Amino acid sequence: MAVIAVVGANWGDEGKGKMVDYLAENSHFVVRFQGGSNAGHTVINDYGKFALHLLPSGVFYPGVVNVIGPGVALDIRAFAEELDSLVQRSVPMPKIAVSDRAQVLMPYHKMFDEYEEERLGARQFGSTKSGIAPFYSDKYAKIGLQVSELYDKDLLRARVAHALEIKNVLLEHLYHKPALKVDDLVEELSVQAEIIKPYVTDTTRLFADALKAGKSILLEGQLGSLRDPDHGIYPYSTSSSTIAGYAAIGAGLPPYAITEVLAVTKAYSSCVGAGPFVTELTGEEGEELRRRGGDAGEYGAKTGRPRRVGWFDAVATRYGCAVQGATALAVTNLDVLGYLENIPVCVAYEIDGRITSDFPATALVRKAKPVFKTMPGWKSDISSARSLGDLPQEARDYIEMVERETGVKVKWVSVGPRREQTFRT
Ligand code: GDP
Repeated sequence: MAVIAVVGANWGDEGKGKMVDYLAENSHFVVRFQGGSNAGHTVINDYGKFALHLLPSGVFYPGVVNVIGPGVALDIRAFAEELDSLVQRSVPMPKIAVSDRAQVLMPYHKMFDEYEEERLGARQFGSTKSGIAPFYSDKYAKIGLQVSELYDKDLLRARVAHALEIKNVLLEHLYHKPALKVDDLVEELSVQAEIIKPYVTDTTRLFADALKAGKSILLEGQLGSLRDPDHGIYPYSTSSSTIAGYAAIGAGLPPYAITEVLAVTKAYSSCVGAGPFVTELTGEEGEELRRRGGDAGEYGAKTGRPRRVGWFDAVATRYGCAVQGATALAVTNLDVLGYLENIPVCVAYEIDGRITSDFPATALVRKAKPVFKTMPGWKSDISSARSLGDLPQEARDYIEMVERETGVKVKWVSVGPRREQTFRT
């Protein structure tokens, strides 16, 4: 039995989707435990290239049960569209279970996300406008709606009416938009209830049985450590926890059930969205790295926005691994660095004239300047390597550097976006 949390050590887009798709072959369950359809997990396999937003990346294996856990922001329309698009592209209908405790992303959550970014103008946070921040605000303000509540007509109407009392004040008076009607929303949610019905189940119970039977579970994180609301670069964070510690909660498993925390990091840094990014490269150097990472989709899978890129940030990654409690690392996109004579790596920050190797809280990250050391490059194409022994010495040294700097053993190396371009060290 293995319960592995596959989580991001950085800002997201580390290649978690690829790693989950690879590892899912030997798993019984793949679970999304947080976030919603704002994810963009790229998977390239025999069926083609896919950007999964809400569905777990185990959907390409007919034997895997793909679970939407209680911690997820469930956008039912997005779920249905994504499922349809897979089937239309000849992927066999996957097995799916949706927690009856998951909460429903309401149509107005997306509206509020959009209106708020509009209101903020230049101060906006770069939301994907998938309704995530309004969803989690409502969940913790206890005006959210659980999936199970969709199937009790009176309860549904009462919950919607209760929420709209607040929502309509904001719509009309803060955003100057038309109010919403209880009847319209109840009707839409009743349609959505039918769409999701075949998949709804008590997934907490399902996992209790699975653990007893020694089944293997992959917990698929979205975004990474530095986007966590508690540990990340708040307020440039997401609205649900991206940390492996939360995986147990958001999936509905005991914390001690997790046997491995596999943190995923790119061999360089990339980030979509706003916030301090210490090793960011601008100008020609940045353009080149983004272009070289072209196959690595250096344009956000969800947003199409160009990703910000920079050299490997050992300070941020060490911290990212520590808050994840990483027991193993996967280093992806190593192939992308093959064009460089020398590779700068950020090993410390200079903040107000002081050198530190600790990743500080956001107010200080804003002031940090990178301190680089340089590693020799390998100047070759390593995308067909299938073992450590196939790599040039310089690339092996680079992996050792990642291990030394983070204090975590590199277990997997990825040298291309395809499933088979992955090997164990
Ligand atoms: P996720 O959100 O963590 O799943 O990551 P994304 O899918 O948003 O971004 C990772 C990008 O890198 C995707 O375009 C992947 O196809 C690509 N990718 C993953 N691993 C590798 C790799 O080892 N080499 C290259 N060149 N691309 C990779």
